[in-house]
Amino acid sequence: MAGEPETRTARRLLLFGPPGAGKGTQAALLAERLGIPAISTGEMFRQAVAGGSELGRQVEAILARGELVDDVTTAEIVRARLAQSDAQPGFLLDGYPRTLAQAATLEEILRGRDEALDAAVFLEVPEDELVRRMSGRAQQAGRADDRPEVVRERLRVYEAKTAPLVEYYRQRCLLRQVDGNRSVGEVADAVLAALQPAAAMGCVPRETAGSLA
Ligand code: ADP
Repeated sequence: MAGEPETRTARRLLLFGPPGAGKGTQAALLAERLGIPAISTGEMFRQAVAGGSELGRQVEAILARGELVDDVTTAEIVRARLAQSDAQPGFLLDGYPRTLAQAATLEEILRGRDEALDAAVFLEVPEDELVRRMSGRAQQAGRADDRPEVVRERLRVYEAKTAPLVEYYRQRCLLRQVDGNRSVGEVADAVLAALQPAAAMGCVPRETAGSLA
Protein backbone atom coordinates (compact mmCIF):
# COMPACT_ATOMS: atom_id res chain seq x y z
CA MET A 1 0.00 0.00 0.00
CA ALA A 2 1.23 3.50 -0.87
CA GLY A 3 1.02 4.77 2.71
CA GLU A 4 3.25 2.10 4.18
CA PRO A 5 6.80 3.13 5.08
CA GLU A 6 9.62 1.73 2.91
CA THR A 7 11.38 0.19 5.87
CA ARG A 8 8.46 -1.92 7.06
CA THR A 9 9.59 -5.46 7.90
CA ALA A 10 8.30 -8.15 5.60
CA ARG A 11 5.64 -10.12 7.44
CA ARG A 12 3.85 -12.18 4.80
CA LEU A 13 6.46 -14.72 4.03
CA LEU A 14 7.12 -18.19 2.79
CA LEU A 15 10.03 -20.51 3.07
CA PHE A 16 10.70 -23.15 0.44
CA GLY A 17 13.46 -25.48 -0.63
CA PRO A 18 14.21 -29.18 -0.97
CA PRO A 19 13.23 -31.69 1.74
CA GLY A 20 15.86 -31.66 4.47
CA ALA A 21 16.89 -28.05 3.78
CA GLY A 22 15.98 -27.01 7.31
CA LYS A 23 12.73 -25.20 6.60
CA GLY A 24 11.03 -26.36 9.79
CA THR A 25 13.95 -25.35 12.01
CA GLN A 26 14.29 -21.94 10.36
CA ALA A 27 10.53 -21.32 10.27
CA ALA A 28 10.28 -21.79 14.04
CA LEU A 29 13.24 -19.46 14.71
CA LEU A 30 12.13 -16.76 12.29
CA ALA A 31 8.50 -16.83 13.37
CA GLU A 32 9.63 -16.26 16.94
CA ARG A 33 11.95 -13.38 15.98
CA LEU A 34 9.36 -11.74 13.72
CA GLY A 35 6.38 -12.37 16.03
CA ILE A 36 4.29 -14.16 13.41
CA PRO A 37 3.03 -17.76 13.33
CA ALA A 38 4.93 -20.44 11.42
CA ILE A 39 2.49 -22.47 9.37
CA SER A 40 3.73 -25.85 8.13
CA THR A 41 1.47 -27.86 5.85
CA GLY A 42 3.64 -30.95 6.41
CA GLU A 43 3.25 -30.59 10.19
CA MET A 44 -0.51 -30.10 9.86
CA PHE A 45 -0.74 -33.27 7.76
CA ARG A 46 1.42 -35.25 10.21
CA GLN A 47 -0.78 -34.07 13.10
CA ALA A 48 -3.90 -35.10 11.20
CA VAL A 49 -2.40 -38.56 10.67
CA ALA A 50 -1.38 -38.87 14.34
CA GLY A 51 -4.84 -37.72 15.48
CA GLY A 52 -6.60 -40.21 13.23
CA SER A 53 -8.96 -37.61 11.70
CA GLU A 54 -10.73 -38.02 8.37
CA LEU A 55 -8.06 -35.83 6.73
CA GLY A 56 -5.36 -37.94 8.39
CA ARG A 57 -6.77 -41.16 6.97
CA GLN A 58 -6.99 -39.53 3.57
CA VAL A 59 -3.35 -38.35 3.45
CA GLU A 60 -1.50 -41.04 5.44
CA ALA A 61 -0.52 -43.26 2.50
CA ILE A 62 0.42 -40.24 0.36
CA LEU A 63 2.86 -38.96 3.01
CA ALA A 64 4.30 -42.43 3.52
CA ARG A 65 5.10 -42.66 -0.21
CA GLY A 66 6.68 -39.18 -0.29
CA GLU A 67 4.14 -37.87 -2.79
CA LEU A 68 2.23 -34.61 -2.61
CA VAL A 69 -1.24 -34.26 -1.16
CA ASP A 70 -3.56 -32.93 -3.87
CA ASP A 71 -3.73 -29.16 -4.39
CA VAL A 72 -7.43 -28.83 -3.48
CA THR A 73 -7.09 -30.54 -0.09
CA THR A 74 -3.91 -28.58 0.63
CA ALA A 75 -5.52 -25.26 -0.34
CA GLU A 76 -8.42 -25.94 2.02
CA ILE A 77 -6.21 -26.42 5.08
CA VAL A 78 -4.08 -23.38 4.22
CA ARG A 79 -7.11 -21.17 3.62
CA ALA A 80 -8.62 -22.21 6.96
CA ARG A 81 -5.34 -21.71 8.82
CA LEU A 82 -4.69 -18.27 7.33
CA ALA A 83 -8.20 -17.20 8.35
CA GLN A 84 -7.34 -17.61 12.06
CA SER A 85 -6.76 -14.42 13.99
CA ASP A 86 -3.07 -14.98 14.78
CA ALA A 87 -2.28 -14.97 11.05
CA GLN A 88 -3.83 -11.56 10.39
CA PRO A 89 -0.71 -9.45 11.18
CA GLY A 90 1.48 -11.80 9.14
CA PHE A 91 2.62 -15.39 8.74
CA LEU A 92 5.49 -17.57 7.67
CA LEU A 93 4.43 -20.44 5.44
CA ASP A 94 6.71 -23.48 5.55
CA GLY A 95 6.23 -26.02 2.78
CA TYR A 96 3.41 -24.21 1.00
CA PRO A 97 3.22 -23.62 -1.92
CA ARG A 98 4.94 -26.67 -3.38
CA THR A 99 3.60 -26.49 -6.93
CA LEU A 100 2.98 -23.66 -9.42
CA ALA A 101 -0.77 -24.28 -9.05
CA GLN A 102 -0.47 -23.83 -5.28
CA ALA A 103 1.49 -20.61 -5.80
CA ALA A 104 -1.34 -19.26 -7.95
CA THR A 105 -3.89 -20.31 -5.32
CA LEU A 106 -1.93 -18.56 -2.58
CA GLU A 107 -1.90 -15.35 -4.64
CA GLU A 108 -5.66 -15.65 -4.99
CA ILE A 109 -6.20 -16.27 -1.26
CA LEU A 110 -4.12 -13.20 -0.41
CA ARG A 111 -5.75 -11.06 -3.10
CA GLY A 112 -9.10 -11.91 -1.49
CA ARG A 113 -7.73 -10.32 1.70
CA ASP A 114 -6.32 -7.32 -0.15
CA GLU A 115 -2.82 -8.53 0.62
CA ALA A 116 0.20 -9.80 -1.23
CA LEU A 117 3.27 -11.81 -0.36
CA ASP A 118 6.31 -9.83 0.83
CA ALA A 119 9.01 -12.41 0.13
CA ALA A 120 9.65 -16.05 -0.79
CA VAL A 121 12.82 -17.32 0.87
CA PHE A 122 14.54 -20.16 -0.98
CA LEU A 123 16.83 -22.29 1.20
CA GLU A 124 19.50 -23.79 -1.00
CA VAL A 125 21.32 -26.96 0.12
CA PRO A 126 23.28 -29.45 -2.04
CA GLU A 127 21.72 -32.85 -2.55
CA ASP A 128 24.39 -34.94 -0.79
CA GLU A 129 23.95 -32.81 2.34
CA LEU A 130 20.13 -33.22 2.15
CA VAL A 131 20.46 -37.00 2.01
CA ARG A 132 22.90 -36.97 4.92
CA ARG A 133 20.59 -34.83 7.09
CA MET A 134 17.48 -36.87 6.38
CA SER A 135 19.12 -40.21 7.07
CA GLY A 136 20.32 -38.82 10.42
CA ARG A 137 16.78 -37.63 11.17
CA ALA A 138 15.29 -41.03 10.22
CA GLN A 139 17.47 -42.71 12.84
CA GLN A 140 16.77 -40.16 15.60
CA ALA A 141 13.26 -38.79 15.20
CA GLY A 142 11.81 -41.71 13.29
CA ARG A 143 9.91 -39.74 10.66
CA ALA A 144 8.45 -42.47 8.44
CA ASP A 145 9.13 -40.53 5.24
CA ASP A 146 12.86 -40.16 6.00
CA ARG A 147 13.59 -43.75 4.92
CA PRO A 148 16.06 -43.80 2.00
CA GLU A 149 13.62 -44.95 -0.71
CA VAL A 150 11.04 -42.33 0.34
CA VAL A 151 13.72 -39.62 0.56
CA ARG A 152 14.65 -40.35 -3.08
CA GLU A 153 11.01 -39.97 -4.10
CA ARG A 154 10.63 -36.70 -2.14
CA LEU A 155 13.74 -35.29 -3.86
CA ARG A 156 12.38 -36.35 -7.25
CA VAL A 157 8.99 -34.74 -6.54
CA TYR A 158 10.77 -31.60 -5.33
CA GLU A 159 12.77 -31.27 -8.57
CA ALA A 160 9.73 -31.89 -10.77
CA LYS A 161 7.06 -29.89 -8.94
CA THR A 162 8.61 -27.41 -6.50
CA ALA A 163 11.89 -26.28 -8.09
CA PRO A 164 10.00 -24.27 -10.77
CA LEU A 165 8.90 -21.92 -7.96
CA VAL A 166 12.42 -20.42 -7.97
CA GLU A 167 11.78 -18.83 -11.39
CA TYR A 168 8.17 -18.04 -10.51
CA TYR A 169 9.17 -15.93 -7.52
CA ARG A 170 12.27 -14.51 -9.21
CA GLN A 171 10.06 -13.05 -11.95
CA ARG A 172 7.89 -11.41 -9.30
CA CYS A 173 10.91 -9.93 -7.46
CA LEU A 174 9.92 -11.91 -4.37
CA LEU A 175 12.75 -14.46 -4.42
CA ARG A 176 15.33 -14.25 -1.62
CA GLN A 177 17.93 -16.96 -2.11
CA VAL A 178 19.81 -18.06 1.02
CA ASP A 179 22.64 -20.58 1.37
CA GLY A 180 21.22 -23.17 3.78
CA ASN A 181 24.43 -25.19 3.98
CA ARG A 182 25.65 -23.49 7.16
CA SER A 183 24.93 -23.57 10.88
CA VAL A 184 21.35 -22.95 12.03
CA GLY A 185 22.24 -19.54 13.49
CA GLU A 186 24.12 -18.39 10.40
CA VAL A 187 21.24 -19.37 8.15
CA ALA A 188 18.72 -17.55 10.37
CA ASP A 189 20.83 -14.37 10.28
CA ALA A 190 21.15 -14.64 6.50
CA VAL A 191 17.40 -15.02 6.09
CA LEU A 192 16.73 -11.96 8.26
CA ALA A 193 19.26 -9.97 6.22
CA ALA A 194 17.58 -11.13 3.00
CA LEU A 195 14.26 -9.79 4.27
CA GLN A 196 15.52 -6.22 4.48
CA PRO A 197 13.79 -3.98 1.92
CA ALA A 198 17.14 -3.31 0.18
CA ALA A 199 17.30 -6.97 -0.90
CA ALA A 200 14.73 -6.31 -3.63
CA MET A 201 16.09 -2.96 -4.76
CA GLY A 202 16.25 -2.43 -8.50
CA CYS A 203 14.21 -5.50 -9.35
CA VAL A 204 11.44 -4.98 -11.90
CA PRO A 205 8.68 -7.63 -11.90
CA ARG A 206 8.82 -9.49 -15.24
CA GLU A 207 5.05 -9.40 -15.91
CA THR A 208 4.84 -5.63 -15.62
CA ALA A 209 8.23 -4.88 -17.23
CA GLY A 210 6.68 -4.87 -20.72
CA SER A 211 3.75 -2.66 -19.85
CA LEU A 212 6.05 -0.02 -18.34
CA ALA A 213 7.76 0.63 -21.68
P1 ADP B 1 9.86 -31.91 3.78
O1 ADP B 1 9.90 -30.54 3.23
O2 ADP B 1 11.11 -32.25 4.53
O3 ADP B 1 9.48 -32.96 2.76
P2 ADP B 1 7.31 -31.36 5.09
O4 ADP B 1 7.00 -31.54 6.53
O5 ADP B 1 7.25 -29.99 4.54
O6 ADP B 1 8.74 -32.03 4.92
O7 ADP B 1 6.30 -32.27 4.23
C1 ADP B 1 6.08 -33.64 4.50
C2 ADP B 1 5.06 -34.22 3.51
O8 ADP B 1 3.78 -33.57 3.65
C3 ADP B 1 5.39 -34.06 2.03
O9 ADP B 1 6.27 -35.07 1.56
C4 ADP B 1 3.99 -34.15 1.39
O10 ADP B 1 3.54 -35.48 1.31
C5 ADP B 1 3.11 -33.42 2.39
N1 ADP B 1 3.01 -31.96 2.09
C6 ADP B 1 3.53 -30.95 2.82
N2 ADP B 1 3.25 -29.76 2.26
C7 ADP B 1 2.54 -30.02 1.13
C8 ADP B 1 1.99 -29.22 0.10
N3 ADP B 1 2.09 -27.88 0.11
N4 ADP B 1 1.33 -29.83 -0.91
C9 ADP B 1 1.21 -31.16 -0.94
N5 ADP B 1 1.72 -31.98 -0.02
C10 ADP B 1 2.38 -31.44 1.02
